[in-house]
Amino acid sequence: MGAPSLGPCRGCGADMLWVATVNGKMQPLDPEPDAAEGSVIVVAADVEVEGQEEPVHRLALAASYLTEKGRQKAAQANVRLYTPHHMTCPKNQDRRFNRGG
Ligand SMILES: [Zn+2]
Repeated sequence: MGAPSLGPCRGCGADMLWVATVNGKMQPLDPEPDAAEGSVIVVAADVEVEGQEEPVHRLALAASYLTEKGRQKAAQANVRLYTPHHMTCPKNQDRRFNRGG
């Protein structure tokens, strides 16, 4: 339980890795790590996930967004960096990425 699940993108049909973020939102990532472009690390964390009626607490793999500096450090340390799927989705009309998000 709490394991990330794969699901197809509604736009392009590619497999996406669904993980909770540390903020409890679900974030689809490209399943293959990308050391050059990735900006998200996946860590094991106790996450409060939005449930049907009330938030559900569970141990999950959580996505955490990195600053550019953190991204470079992680890349140097060979930490796997993942890319949010909307960054690479060919069907996504808006690929602008707000790093401050
Ligand atoms: Zn897609």
